Amino acid sequence: MRTVNFSLEANSSFDRVYPQKDTAIATTASINIAHVGVYYRTQEALRDVNCVVNPGKLTGIFGPNGAGKSTLMKAMLGLVPVSSGTVLYQGKSLMQQLEKVAYVPQRSQIDWTYPATVWDVVMMGRVKKTGWLRSFSAVSRQVAKNAIERVGMSQYQNRPIGQLSGGQQQRVFLARALAQQADIFCFDEPFVGIDQKTQSVIFQVFRELAAENKIVLVVNHDLGESITHFDDLILLNCELIATGSRQEVLTEQNLMSAYGGKVMYHADAA
Ligand code: ADP
Ligand code: MG
Repeated sequence: MRTVNFSLEANSSFDRVYPQKDTAIATTASINIAHVGVYYRTQEALRDVNCVVNPGKLTGIFGPNGAGKSTLMKAMLGLVPVSSGTVLYQGKSLMQQLEKVAYVPQRSQIDWTYPATVWDVVMMGRVKKTGWLRSFSAVSRQVAKNAIERVGMSQYQNRPIGQLSGGQQQRVFLARALAQQADIFCFDEPFVGIDQKTQSVIFQVFRELAAENKIVLVVNHDLGESITHFDDLILLNCELIATGSRQEVLTEQNLMSAYGGKVMYHADAA
């Protein structure tokens, strides 16, 4: 049984640093997810999901294992076919505009034996801007260098990624996403198996991206204290359980609907 143990008071210092605004109404600058359904053969993974992801916010997709969190992110990006629904950004299908998206999949989906250095991995983030078989410009090199610096990995630039710790590897993938200079950042479970220092570096960068009015969407299943970093939440369990500001979503009833008896609910985290 999982214990959710955080309190209203615990958020107050956070709220002073990052005051909460009311959730904005959807605009063309939002991602609009409407009636999205996904089946894997006969198994229904998502049913009629409707929600909005707004720029300038840190948005978390939460829910238990198998809730369809990764599937929702993949469906948004056209990585799994949808059986119904649309995902629009600036009035057009998001999957037709993937050059605006930086996506970091779950760690388990990345081949860590791939013989690439930190520099190689981050420069891959520049391929779309440069084009295959064309040499990287001085601008691209500078962008990659800045991204590596921003996540605190400069001293490891020439290290093969397979030789880094889990937290360092996650920071390298964050740097690659930054090097893409995207408008929309999608991360699937970036906090699994990483150290505390990496977690704070990652949250700091997410905050900066939100402050730059980017869309920052993060899959996370952990209901621990880190949930207080998120502005908006999408709570899933095949169906959408709730969405809106963290305060609106984190009610006992919503958490029970999503996690059922697996959660022992201590205090309101909203
Ligand atoms: P989450 O990320 O919330 O843990 P997923 O989106 O990975 O959940 O999976 C949702 C459901 O779909 C689960 O029941 C999972 O077993 C199933 N599923 C995910 N990927 C596939 C796949 N490629 N083929 C068949 N079933 C899948
Ligand atoms: Mg997942």
